[in-house]
Amino acid sequence: MSEPNQKKALITGITGQDGSYLSEILLNKDYEVYGLIRRSSDTKSENIVHIQDRLHLIYGDLIDPTSLVELFRRTGEVDEVYNLAAQSLPGLSFQQPVYTAEVTALGAHRVFEAVRRYSPHAKVYQASSSELFGWVKERPQNEDTPFNPANPYAASKLYAHSIAQIYNKSYDMFIACGILFNHESPRRGLGFVTQKVAYAAACAKLGIKTSQHLNEEGEPIVLDGKVALGNLEASRDWGFARDYVWAMWKMLQLDNPEIFVVATGELHTVRDLCEVAFKHVELNWQDYVLEDKRFVRPTETGPLIGDPSRAKKLLGFEPTVTFEELIGMMVDMHIAKLT
Ligand code: NDP
Ligand code: GDP
Repeated sequence: MSEPNQKKALITGITGQDGSYLSEILLNKDYEVYGLIRRSSDTKSENIVHIQDRLHLIYGDLIDPTSLVELFRRTGEVDEVYNLAAQSLPGLSFQQPVYTAEVTALGAHRVFEAVRRYSPHAKVYQASSSELFGWVKERPQNEDTPFNPANPYAASKLYAHSIAQIYNKSYDMFIACGILFNHESPRRGLGFVTQKVAYAAACAKLGIKTSQHLNEEGEPIVLDGKVALGNLEASRDWGFARDYVWAMWKMLQLDNPEIFVVATGELHTVRDLCEVAFKHVELNWQDYVLEDKRFVRPTETGPLIGDPSRAKKLLGFEPTVTFEELIGMMVDMHIAKLT
């Protein structure tokens, strides 16, 4: 039972990278935290296992609207809803475009509709993405930069972002949208390039020639001592997930639902990433990285680089970790796990 005046928050996507950091932040602030999880999440809730006994976890799926009705029946009205659940891999969205739209576009819509009906006073955070800028029209990108999505994931996020504005205006709801640029951590999924490279650097350090974990093609990420990557010239603005998740919470403490770009303002290529990760273990990346066309996307997004001035000014957002520290932290986590 919640204490009088204790705030209640609901997180979809609680088992993911951001959901787990957000749970920690909210628990530290004494919130009662509810999380929507899929039955299949059970085996991979590694990110929240350390706090699981302090969370209220409820089974459901963004694809099934009735499970969202049941969710709110169980939670009652809540103060804050963070919609973080998504098919979150832009690369995979080329192979599973319709599924991506089901979860990432319509799933978000179903959440907004459930909030409208069952918890209309809740403040909602929607996880929008720098992928909205797609084939970028200017750089750096800020809150006024036009959207131009370049993959099915981005198109799905644009749908959710647009519906959020429509619900705000039509139903006087509070749905804040954070346009977050790429953010990583030791909890990042292995399907993302930072984690793939960090894992490969750890394997190289430990002399592992064939890895247990598989890549996007279902082959070992490290095979014959090498990691196969796609476009090395692709570039991103990579920050630390915990800093970004804190900004989500700050957005819901405002009086009005607003849109913020959250980014570091620094651009790095995948090539830079390889250099930093392998340098961390005192190795030369060129000895371990292969370019492989199978990992090149049908179209490339970017260059994605954000201007976080507004978030800095109005939310007090400030990145706390450098790119080198971030990648180093990820490599060290893999070394510790593999040893
Ligand atoms: P993750 O991929 O780590 O987590 C996604 C979460 O969504 C998981 O908990 C997953 O559960 C859940 N989920 C997936 N499909 C469904 C479904 N059908 N029903 C219910 N839950 C589902 O993502 P992140 O934590 O990195 O990102 C959080 C959000 O922010 C996402 O919406 C992402 O698209 C967005 N975003 C992320 C950025 C980043 O750089 N990290 C940048 C900009 C936006 P399960 O454990 O069962 O798979
Ligand atoms: P995204 O920005 O959300 O798509 O995050 P990713 O980490 O999946 O990809 C970041 C960039 O790295 C994209 O431009 C990819 O094309 C590029 N990239 C290059 N090689 C790879 C690879 O082997 N795997 C992934 N996932 N991305 C790669």
